[in-house]
Amino acid sequence: MDFYSPITSLKGVGSKTAALFEALDIANVGALLYHFPRTYQVYPEPITDPGEAVGEKAAIRMELNAPITVKRTRNLDISIGMGYVKGTLPAKRIPLELVWFRMPYIRKQIHPGREYIFYGEVKQLKSTSYSMQQPAVYTLEDYTRLQKKPQAVYALTKGLTNHAVTKAVLQLIDHPTITEEYLPDTLLRKRGLLGYHRALSLIHQPDDFESLAEARNRLVYDEFFKFFLTRDLERDGMAGIRNHWRFPQDAMFRKVLDSLPFALTEGQSKALSDMRGDLEGDHISQRLIQGDVGSGKTILAFLIMLLAVENGYQAAIMAPTEVLARQHEKTFRAYCQQFSLPYEVVCITGSDKAKQRRLLNDRVAAEASLFIIGTHALLSEGMRYHKLCVVITDEQHRFGVRQRRILQEKGQDPHVFVMSATPIPRTLAMILYSDMHLSVVKDVPARRLPIRNTVITKDKRARGLNFIRQEIEKGRQAYIICPLVEASEKTEAENVVEYVAYLNQYYRGSISVGLLHGKMKPAEKDAIMADFSEKKIQILVSTTVVEVGINVPNATVMMIEDANRFGLAQLHQLRGRVGRGEWQSYCIFVDSSPKGQESNRLSVLAGSNDGFFIANEDLRLRGPGDFFGIRQSGDLDFKLADIYQDAEIMKLAAEDAKSLAQSDPALSKHDRVREYLNRMDTVIFSNL
Ligand code: ADP
Ligand code: MG
Repeated sequence: MDFYSPITSLKGVGSKTAALFEALDIANVGALLYHFPRTYQVYPEPITDPGEAVGEKAAIRMELNAPITVKRTRNLDISIGMGYVKGTLPAKRIPLELVWFRMPYIRKQIHPGREYIFYGEVKQLKSTSYSMQQPAVYTLEDYTRLQKKPQAVYALTKGLTNHAVTKAVLQLIDHPTITEEYLPDTLLRKRGLLGYHRALSLIHQPDDFESLAEARNRLVYDEFFKFFLTRDLERDGMAGIRNHWRFPQDAMFRKVLDSLPFALTEGQSKALSDMRGDLEGDHISQRLIQGDVGSGKTILAFLIMLLAVENGYQAAIMAPTEVLARQHEKTFRAYCQQFSLPYEVVCITGSDKAKQRRLLNDRVAAEASLFIIGTHALLSEGMRYHKLCVVITDEQHRFGVRQRRILQEKGQDPHVFVMSATPIPRTLAMILYSDMHLSVVKDVPARRLPIRNTVITKDKRARGLNFIRQEIEKGRQAYIICPLVEASEKTEAENVVEYVAYLNQYYRGSISVGLLHGKMKPAEKDAIMADFSEKKIQILVSTTVVEVGINVPNATVMMIEDANRFGLAQLHQLRGRVGRGEWQSYCIFVDSSPKGQESNRLSVLAGSNDGFFIANEDLRLRGPGDFFGIRQSGDLDFKLADIYQDAEIMKLAAEDAKSLAQSDPALSKHDRVREYLNRMDTVIFSNL
């Protein structure tokens, strides 16, 4: 068995289970190894009063008052044990009944007169007795040991249990050859890193939180190391490509610039002149345009693309989602009409019908002077371009050397601009994007009123909803964000499906409410977004899919349910959906944490609209054990690494990658490293 073996090579994984794994994008052994736990659970402190935990899982400490009895009914062994627990009323002893099915041997394992921990769900039978079915049983010592060990909780799919995933993963941990060390020994020692096999074992089966943190550090290092090494190795091949594009015309560009309904901010003007300078430079350029939400990056994209288009070239902008691509399409078409520009706009996404797509592909392969908008479909195999001169990526960072190479192989050497709203402090950006030039658009258009923020606890929700009603009566619109799509047994967080029903009741159908979430088909999402921007929908209830890039200036209220469940930086991005028009906008953070204990953290947002400041506070306020809890949105698709929290490791990995790339650019003395890079690309993240 190796990294590439199909998942069915594991014991207990037949074709049926394999299909379930596949639904999680796990086709082979390597992908399973990298299916890291979603979170970790710890066993609760033992209690002696089951009344404190009715309906919940609890660890009850108790001794049995008599041996276990076994009954047999219809071929089913039922073992019953009885003990007394302290009742809620002082000095009252209340019976707790324990029931096991098909486990007759349990009676030999539990002895009356000794204390045990019984772990399971507590049910109340009558007001005076409780029961537990199939409880797990531990001695006090064993339980104490177990309590120190974080238990992996995996992302699952219907039909696949946590236990099944754990069992499969354990087999991999028993196969150290799959996870043979690939880093040079010198590096391991220099950085004091855990071994590769050990780290992967511990991330799935940690002994305690300290070893988990160490395991995570090693794997975070790996992620950064791969990121930087891949880039540094390929960079030399890409650097210094001569810029053969020429831009003699700029009449349209000027015309649009002069007739914009607003003046560009200083940051916008500077970024635009940076980009223009790039187009006229000696070499093909790559530049990161970093601008906070609402700083007006789209118009910059349009203007620089226009310059290319009016000189007879193609220019493309790539968005992370179809919804955003459609929005750009609409915006670009509107600009073309508004400024009477004689150019065409095409939009290419994964959900185009085959025939339609062929038509679009043919146009893109032949037509000069074209605005091209799309999703990752722009990089797909069938696409051919004609004089593609500028490529812009909006709100995504996956666009790296490899993607550039794809375009290059299609016979083009476009200038690349990466637009991002993730506020990355300059020092970090210089490490992460050392291969790019950097423009920062810090200011947001001055005409706009700063967003007013408030934090409320859940019981005050009606105030928020009534406020939204008032805004809607003035002609405005609102977003309401919930963390979940549907009701979940695991958490009480709000879900969009039930919330919509709730709102329809609350407003008695007088307000039109729309629903948006990531599980919907792209065409459905589009239709909803279109209805929202045309005001057919007044309140859009959505998961965080609206987070990135959506622009509906008429929306003035953003209400975020369970705001305490999100990272500050992510909340900031969500808030950026309002405050985009001429009206005063509002953001309401609903804190559902017990006793409103998160309100302090949330008030950081209420006190500032500055993305850089918030990102720093987010980092500062996160607890040290919080490493799987909340991650920055918009990061560079690292699985574990967080550029803020792991800045130190990032710096070291960048250094190490750089010196390796310099000393052995073909990796001829580092076969294992090369093999590692390949397999991480092809096996695991091939879907990216
Ligand atoms: P983001 O940087 O988040 O992508 P957008 O490009 O979507 O922001 O711009 C948000 C809104 O601000 C748009 O409606 C846009 O027309 C408007 N806008 C952009 N630049 C300016 C400006 N200089 N003055 C006023 N409004 C602007
Ligand atoms: Mg944008």
